[in-house]
Amino acid sequence: MDIVQIGEKVLREPARPLSKEEILSDKMQEFIQSLIFTMRKAPGVGLAAPQVGIPLQIIVLEDKPEYHSYLTPEQLTERDRKVLPLSVIINPILTIEEAEVAEFFEGCLSVPELIGIVPRAKAVRVEGFNERAEPIVIKATGWHARILQHEVDHLNGIIYTDLAEQRTLMTQDNFRKLWKQTPIAEVQKEFK
Ligand code: ZN
Repeated sequence: MDIVQIGEKVLREPARPLSKEEILSDKMQEFIQSLIFTMRKAPGVGLAAPQVGIPLQIIVLEDKPEYHSYLTPEQLTERDRKVLPLSVIINPILTIEEAEVAEFFEGCLSVPELIGIVPRAKAVRVEGFNERAEPIVIKATGWHARILQHEVDHLNGIIYTDLAEQRTLMTQDNFRKLWKQTPIAEVQKEFK
């Protein structure tokens, strides 16, 4: 499937929850597999159904070891970023567990080129259903909590650029060239 880009209305509208029967239908099972395939092909650590033009409350997440290759062990620790197995979450309800925020650069497959610093709560809890329509509860911290907040936002028509520190928005190319190694606090100072 193609990933829709910022400017498409579907990214700005609330997504609809699914019934248990709908989740278990062949059509939906096929759609979930396509969503996973599209996320992996991009590649990305998360994808929400509205990002492929379908306004349903489904998100998929996966953070593979190979995605960590550009980060140093220190950067991984600082981000509290760990390998995440594939998960499918339907009708997620997100609760902030720890209001204290962490600030890091974040991008989105629906916003080409850009990256910006986004404050995100450090710990969240998400309740929902898996692809077998079984209830699930996920407690997440660090990067996992960040991905969950980003993807659940997509189900509410929110894009990370709405929440980013506006003056830190930059092209991914410039981020790699100029700021990749700079601590976040210093980048914030430079762009104040
Ligand atoms: Zn996104």
